[in-house]
Amino acid sequence: MFESIPMDSQTPKTVDLFVIGGGINGCGIARDAVGRGLSVELVEMNDLASATSSASTKLFHGGLRYLEYFELRLVREALIERETLLRAMPHISWPMRFVLPFHKDMRFDAETPASRVLSGVMPWLKGRRPAWMIRMGLFLYDHLGGRKILPATRSLDLRTDPAGQVLDDRFEKAFEYSDCWVQDSRLVVLNARDAEARGATIRTRTRAVSAECTNGLWQIVTEDTQTGEQTTTQARALVNAAGPWVENVIRGVVGSNAKEGVRLVRGSHIVTKRLFDHDRCYFFQGQDGRIIFAIPYERDFTLIGTTDQQHVSPDEKPTCTDSEAQYLCDFASGYFKTPVTMDDVVWRYSGVRPLYDDGASSATAATRDYVLKLENPGAPVLNVFGGKITTYRRLAESAMSKLAPLLGASEENWTAGVAMPGGDFAVDGVDALIGALMQTYPFLDLNWATRLVRTYGTDARIILGDATTAQDLGQGFGAALTEAEVRWLMQREYACSAEDVVWRRTKLGLHLNEAQIVSLDAWMAGAV
Ligand SMILES: Cc1cc2nc3c(=O)[nH]c(=O)nc-3n(C[C@H](O)[C@H](O)[C@H](O)COP(=O)(O)OP(=O)(O)OC[C@H]3O[C@@H](n4cnc5c(N)ncnc54)[C@H](O)[C@@H]3O)c2cc1C
Repeated sequence: MFESIPMDSQTPKTVDLFVIGGGINGCGIARDAVGRGLSVELVEMNDLASATSSASTKLFHGGLRYLEYFELRLVREALIERETLLRAMPHISWPMRFVLPFHKDMRFDAETPASRVLSGVMPWLKGRRPAWMIRMGLFLYDHLGGRKILPATRSLDLRTDPAGQVLDDRFEKAFEYSDCWVQDSRLVVLNARDAEARGATIRTRTRAVSAECTNGLWQIVTEDTQTGEQTTTQARALVNAAGPWVENVIRGVVGSNAKEGVRLVRGSHIVTKRLFDHDRCYFFQGQDGRIIFAIPYERDFTLIGTTDQQHVSPDEKPTCTDSEAQYLCDFASGYFKTPVTMDDVVWRYSGVRPLYDDGASSATAATRDYVLKLENPGAPVLNVFGGKITTYRRLAESAMSKLAPLLGASEENWTAGVAMPGGDFAVDGVDALIGALMQTYPFLDLNWATRLVRTYGTDARIILGDATTAQDLGQGFGAALTEAEVRWLMQREYACSAEDVVWRRTKLGLHLNEAQIVSLDAWMAGAV
């Protein structure tokens, strides 16, 4: 393996593996690779998780609707992965129950492989699915992935179950199944932190500008996006995990003429004031063949999404358009007793799925499975397409199964069940951790302690240190965000701006006003 320290100021630093992109796939690969004994450097041109990996629906899920596309390999892998990941990060992920109301107006996409088979053998269904067929799909979902922690599917009578109270009276029957929640952008940062703790170099606000292969080594030029300063690093292998920019890196940075392409599919979400009082989610099947979720979010809100829209260029910042927001309001209003209107919307966000272009006819039908393409023009380069937050760890293992033999690294997978930073406690241990934290730090109220444990797990104690009063944590920025926490985020979690803190490391942006965010930004700019 290569020494990762430069010999003198003239010799560029040399590493085994250079990763472009600090989304979930880049950070997951960097962590896995460094744990196999490789020297690793990762660059991210903005903040970690600043693109797709902070804009997901935030589910560790098998993907119930992919059963319609017979994507059994993907669904099975993701179902198994839910519980593996839950065990490794019980602070930032947790089980959730999903209520799927059943009714006769539900229509499934006519273009799915399942629809095509059914229109041959049961033409009278015309896009509908009888209750027994949905039950069968959920049976498969329950059993395909060896569920141990998560409870099984059950039927609900919406006339008596509290989940039925907010729904229109025509919904009398539902199924309730399990999946999990994950704080997506925290997952990315924790992977980066763990990679760094194991020896990787993580450089944010650093863009990969060019990569050329000379004498079997990549010469990668990077640019600090704040100062414009350029640096060259040499690497034995390159990973292109640039998400929506994967094709730009292939053609613009590496200068390859590989034929693979990416299909950019925008997905938008709206966040409304809280629409219901229980902690379960809704899975709504539309009359247009699409589905959306309505999920309890950040205590006081409901998250509704997503859409599927073609997106032209990665450089066009994805935004949730008014027509997408209206579509989501109308879709949800078809289910809730009280219509959801644009006035209920307090925040919107949007992200771009970097899907492998498999020539599918519609954005909804394009495969969500990941595709890894290894090229070897003198030295290996691995291009990453697609993938899910849920399958990032398996994607990293797959990437390493291609790269480890070429780099002489360990071929033994090691990440399953290894705790993420702050996640070194029992999978059902969150309540005990919150209780113990409140005992040691009596000035914390339940909401504050819960937020700290759900964000930092066992690391919450390091942030609070020997404080005996809230004042000991320094300046307050509103919503129980203190100087001690912001300093931790700057020193240990790569946060540089208020935006990093309030929209990615936390979601406190929902609880702070504009003036508070501006003053946090000013404080961070001057912090030493
Ligand atoms: C609306 C929506 C909902 C989703 N919901 C779910 C879900 O609930 N569950 C699930 O499992 N999956 C979900 N996904 C899928 C999942 O979010 C993505 O597959 C995943 O986040 C992609 O991660 P990535 O690392 O490949 O890309 P990204 O997160 O986009 O990371 C790529 C990074 O590369 C950086 N970069 C690009 N070019 C350069 C360069 N030249 N130099 C340096 N850095 C560069 C970018 O700044 C970016 O941060 C959803 C996706 C969307 C869009």
